[in-house]
Amino acid sequence: MNFDLSGPTPDAADDGVWLACIECGHTLAPFDDVIYRCPECGGLLEARYDEYPTFADFEGRGVWRYAAAMPVERGVTIREGDTPLYDVPRLEDEVGVRTLRIKHEGANPTGSFKDRGMTVGVRVARRLGVGRLACASTGNTSAALAAYGARAGMETLVLLPAGKVAAGKVAQASLHGARILEVDGNFDDCLDVVSELADRGEAYLLNSLNPFRLEGQKTIGLEILEQARDDYGRLPDRIVLPVGNAGNTAAIHKAFRELVAAGELDPDDVPTLTGVQAEDAAPFVEAVEEGRDRVRRWADVETRATAIRIGDPVNAPKALHAVRETGGTAVAVSDEAITAAQRDLAAAGVGVEPASAASVAGLRALRERGVVTDDEDVVCLTTGHLLKDPDAAAAAGGDPEPVPADVAGVLAALGD
Ligand SMILES: *Cc1c(COP(=O)(O)O)cnc(C)c1O
Ligand SMILES: [Zn+2]
Repeated sequence: MNFDLSGPTPDAADDGVWLACIECGHTLAPFDDVIYRCPECGGLLEARYDEYPTFADFEGRGVWRYAAAMPVERGVTIREGDTPLYDVPRLEDEVGVRTLRIKHEGANPTGSFKDRGMTVGVRVARRLGVGRLACASTGNTSAALAAYGARAGMETLVLLPAGKVAAGKVAQASLHGARILEVDGNFDDCLDVVSELADRGEAYLLNSLNPFRLEGQKTIGLEILEQARDDYGRLPDRIVLPVGNAGNTAAIHKAFRELVAAGELDPDDVPTLTGVQAEDAAPFVEAVEEGRDRVRRWADVETRATAIRIGDPVNAPKALHAVRETGGTAVAVSDEAITAAQRDLAAAGVGVEPASAASVAGLRALRERGVVTDDEDVVCLTTGHLLKDPDAAAAAGGDPEPVPADVAGVLAALGD
């Protein structure tokens, strides 16, 4: 594996940026051709730079505060990033850690962290001069791509697993003008099809296989460090996040590796990355538990956390490295535990979709097992907004009570 960020700048670099294969180290010019995997070995690619910025190089707000760490200049933006880091004192007490903060990515423009990736990915697409944008999606990627594609004035195609995408997400993709194809298959089937379309030059792929998207998502890690430092004066010990395609896990780790390469972060201070999956969609957890550096694809996956209903996490080689390098782990939780955590977050005023609540459910499970200790500063990432999946929210909440249209009737109902 080749995860060394501090190698020499290759001839292929363009303005100090290039792509490198994490498997064989092969390097490529970033903007000459449309390319998603290493042409030598098929390995995953990542963006590399001849210089890595320090905190002093960041200015402004949102994702583009971190422009010095990006492969392109600001372009297609809807003011993504700069999401809140909430304290949740009751939940913190109940879980039993030193501090618990919730980094709520539902506060992004389209309601999920996918916006951070798309502001960069769609900008690169424009630089490459491609025609049509495309993705496979469990929902949020399609909502974000549709919005950023619309913003850029580009044609957008999304492939969704039929009947398995939450209502809010389909509505967003639809209204933002994406062409939506409902595939008779699961997410992994959709990704197989759209990847082949991309390889044939039919569309530019903006799934998290795309290394530029992960450059935008990297900013979650940078924001968490800056916010934690301002909030309680330390860096968090641990970041807990849901894992679907494992792009976020890889991206957040890359943010920390770059800070280490810049001499800005002590390797011992890198937060421990901890992934959470639903128990019937847990190929990543299986690979972590078995100490493998590849996942075995699960053909059948099921969970009410539809955003992470994925059997073949495409970024696993990067994310397994991230978990191992940071001394982290991964844990599977039941759908019931996910819904309980969704209710608990809602009771703290933080409205999230089921996949997001998996982070808190996973923290709780690891605290009960003693893997997480009571002296830890923990940040849980909540990846998407409650309104993304109104059906799940309504099912987890209480039912409306019918009353007559008069005060006596309302008082009678309240008296019960
Ligand atoms: C995409 C998504 C995930 C999974 O993120 P990965 O980077 O694919 O692991 C988790 N939660 C929500 C709400 C998402 O939209
Ligand atoms: Zn390679």
